[in-house]
Amino acid sequence: MIDIEKLHKSFGKNDVLKGISAHIEQGEVVAVIGPSGSGKSTFLRCINFLEVPTSGRIVYQGEEVTAHAAKLQAVRKRIGMVFQHFHLFPHMTVLENITYAPITVNKVGKATAVQKARELLQKVGLADKENEYPNRLSGGQKQRVAIARALAMEPEVILFDEPTSALDPEMVKEVLEVMKSLAHSGITMVIVTHEMGFAKEVADRVLFLDGGLLVEDASPAQFFAAPKSERAQAFLEKVL
Ligand code: ADP
Ligand code: MG
Repeated sequence: MIDIEKLHKSFGKNDVLKGISAHIEQGEVVAVIGPSGSGKSTFLRCINFLEVPTSGRIVYQGEEVTAHAAKLQAVRKRIGMVFQHFHLFPHMTVLENITYAPITVNKVGKATAVQKARELLQKVGLADKENEYPNRLSGGQKQRVAIARALAMEPEVILFDEPTSALDPEMVKEVLEVMKSLAHSGITMVIVTHEMGFAKEVADRVLFLDGGLLVEDASPAQFFAAPKSERAQAFLEKVL
């Protein structure tokens, strides 16, 4: 579904991604793991061109992703994104947050968009919150709205960048539960996470990044039981 070929990304003199090649299959749940500053967010953001790669290619369903505006919009409609800090629209209610892009970008009728949004709110356990504004929600609730908002565009892939890192500990579980049920629904997911238990249990594959390189590409069973590289061993010793 997604081919990442020799991806390089520099910010000025800072070589952040130093040639990453990976392949993501349809329906796969891929956990991206690694130390802070290793390039995980940059890697994720390059997939949908929120960052434009310095060199290398991203091929999405056989077609190269480029900075061409119209094509990029078409690709971004199919790739949802969920951020660490939610990025909800503060001046819109929960329902408006979820229906905004379907109505304006996908030209879905309002009644249809609202109906779909309500189904999604049900799914993430927030059916009673549709008229709230984001600042009246807990972090866990905000992130579940953000997930519902991404799903409202009916994406083929969702990219998650540390979706639980900004949450108080007691709210992590409710978000991971929603993500777990999504994973079982068959949608393709790429998740940057520090939740090792979740990665172990839910991911089909682990990509371990360190210093801008893809150091390991393995099944969770293999990665967590017997990481091949010293760098992954050292990382796991610190976090487990
Ligand atoms: P991670 O998500 O693994 O913590 P990042 O991809 O956020 O790592 O960052 C990797 C490196 O890239 C860091 O040194 C960071 O300072 C740098 N970086 C990331 N985004 C930018 C940017 N927009 N401009 C300049 N440097 C950046
Ligand atoms: Mg990051």
